[in-house]
Amino acid sequence: MSIDYDKIFDDALKNLRHEGRYRVFNNITRKKGEFPKAIYNNHFGVKSDVTVWCSNDYLGMGQNPNVVEAFINAVNLVGAGAGGTRNISGTSNYHVELENELSRFHKKDSSLIFTSGYIANECALSTLARFLPNSTIFSDENNHASMIEGIKKGNSNKKIWKHNDINHLEYLLKNTDKNSSKIVAFESVYSMDGDFAPIEEIINISKKYNALTYLDEVHGVGLYGLFGGGLSQKLGVQEDIDILEGTLAKGFGLMGGYITAKSNIIDVIRSYAPGFIFTTSLPPSLAAAAIASIRFVRNNNNLRESLYERSQKLKQMMNNKNLPIIENKSHIVPLLVKDPKLCKEISDILLNDYSIYVQPINYPTVPKGLERLRFTPTPLHDDEKMEHLVNSLDKIWMSLKLSRAA
Ligand SMILES: *Cc1c(COP(=O)(O)O)cnc(C)c1O
Repeated sequence: MSIDYDKIFDDALKNLRHEGRYRVFNNITRKKGEFPKAIYNNHFGVKSDVTVWCSNDYLGMGQNPNVVEAFINAVNLVGAGAGGTRNISGTSNYHVELENELSRFHKKDSSLIFTSGYIANECALSTLARFLPNSTIFSDENNHASMIEGIKKGNSNKKIWKHNDINHLEYLLKNTDKNSSKIVAFESVYSMDGDFAPIEEIINISKKYNALTYLDEVHGVGLYGLFGGGLSQKLGVQEDIDILEGTLAKGFGLMGGYITAKSNIIDVIRSYAPGFIFTTSLPPSLAAAAIASIRFVRNNNNLRESLYERSQKLKQMMNNKNLPIIENKSHIVPLLVKDPKLCKEISDILLNDYSIYVQPINYPTVPKGLERLRFTPTPLHDDEKMEHLVNSLDKIWMSLKLSRAA
């Protein structure tokens, strides 16, 4: 019997196209100093200026002059690559300094950097799950794919609690062997709906049942708290979180992930996680830029105030036009479309007719039927850009006869 490999691959792609969720990457080149403007290179190779409305570089730090300068200076001093894994020739002063900076930033004993936030979650959770005897991980049902993969790989017991439902979490904790080890894993700001976790309650319940807390603050670091330490810092419970995970890619505008915790936890993951041990460390220049970015973001609370003001303003403008946004208290502005093909169509019209770039968000990133456009205003999206966006959406909503908010 012969296997028709081509047919298998082609069918898989045909299915995605049929469901309207075949992924098309838009070619968007950012221009230093002009954030959030960028150059869109369309499929015919024609270039045009667009405004980016869906970047996770929430504060524009990827183009901050201090950050760019730190990056270039480090390249000039030590070259482009790290030269090895952390264990074999790939630890530099920049890496050590960055980890120290992160520990100070979060008021924790110790920190560990990874090549991405995804890898940080996967490594930390899988290693903890494997390491702790007879362990159960309690995972919020809306947790990010990187946590889910880490939990799967850790191969411990797993219990999924209904999103943000502390009663369900307590029910599951209560019905788990008292003498087994437990980790409660959740996020502070859920990036697709923009809702917050009830962090204080989760901490209290976790303590009551002697569980460790693992908090993904990827969409919180740099953005919440007086010094940008995250939502847990804003709520004054930073020190009650056992393991905090963050990224250097969103609020800090770069690349890389980290965890921060008590020294012995960090040391175990440093010593046992294959995804940390057997991979080349971040370029030193990236670590240098990350240090500059963290310091800048920590010392400029006005960035956070401005992010909040801009996102509130955009929500209000969309509400005034009865555009069906999902209400939340965060900086994220999700606009519901509820259909994958329409979602892509609106995104294409915005890009081609209005020079607005927002990527459609379809299954499996969000559940089927909850497809949406997800806007991320930054301090650099001014009134003029917001008016252009909202007026363009209003016209599209009219011409396609889309449903409005009640
Ligand atoms: C983006 C994201 C990650 C992964 O971070 P990267 O640094 O981009 O790999 C982890 N958790 C959540 C909730 C995220 O949204």
